[in-house]
Amino acid sequence: MTRQSDKIFPFIDKQLASWSEGRLRFGQLNDVLYKSLTVNGVEVKIQFNPERVRSATAQVTATAIKRRQCFLCRKNRPPDQMYLSWRNYQILVNPYPILPRHLTVASARHQPQFILSRVTDMLDLTRFLEGFLVFYNGAQCGASAPDHFHFQAVEAGHTPLERLMDGYATEKTTGMGFSGRLHYFSGKKKSILRDTFETVCREYENSPDAEPMMNVFCRHMHGIWELTVIPRLKHRPECYCGVGDAQMLVSPGALDMAGIVVTARECDFRKLAAENLTQIYRETGCW
Ligand SMILES: [Zn+2]
Repeated sequence: MTRQSDKIFPFIDKQLASWSEGRLRFGQLNDVLYKSLTVNGVEVKIQFNPERVRSATAQVTATAIKRRQCFLCRKNRPPDQMYLSWRNYQILVNPYPILPRHLTVASARHQPQFILSRVTDMLDLTRFLEGFLVFYNGAQCGASAPDHFHFQAVEAGHTPLERLMDGYATEKTTGMGFSGRLHYFSGKKKSILRDTFETVCREYENSPDAEPMMNVFCRHMHGIWELTVIPRLKHRPECYCGVGDAQMLVSPGALDMAGIVVTARECDFRKLAAENLTQIYRETGCW
């Protein structure tokens, strides 16, 4: 039995058994529609998931964030939402899942999204959650709660990005993925991985006070960590602000950049074609 299944699977089962709203939404995942598009030579999946409309339309400006109650702070969470403590974090079942066993791992304290000081936490968490893909949305790259530090995790094996990672036999690869530039590195030593991560970040740094825009992915198998950094140019593409038929509510976070593109409106799901998505990736990734 792997380390995570000792605690995580029973935690998820217990939570879903006692929380009708969460159970309903995870049940709905079985019925979400998918279609495939080939973008930059890779088959990506488009998901129609109306429950994600909150995230797709989330106001993430500093003013809007200040005005709302933080939904990751314990005092504001639904009373039925349980948590599993891990270090200074609380592991939660994500109430609006995109993929099976979707978790949010929130800092126990209300602190902003800033990963540079938490890379070691990400590596250790990924080892704890072996069998999961752990990921991070930068404050302006898909995080709906940029003011409250959190990772997310989903059951591994569902994203096109992981298939790319499977093909990287070398310890370090910098190249073009289907959603733009990416940096992949792997190894057994946390300090080396942390140093490599910091070096990659410095390449994209604009200001010493703000971290570069990026999505980060991590998995751990057979004693080896694999990290992928996807640097970002912006959060939302131009079509997000389009008018009438020209509008498509695609608001890319980490999973979208990993090839699971979420649409919350049926019209966008139907309309989104390979050329639109190529354009979306060209605007939001780095090329
Ligand atoms: Zn908070």
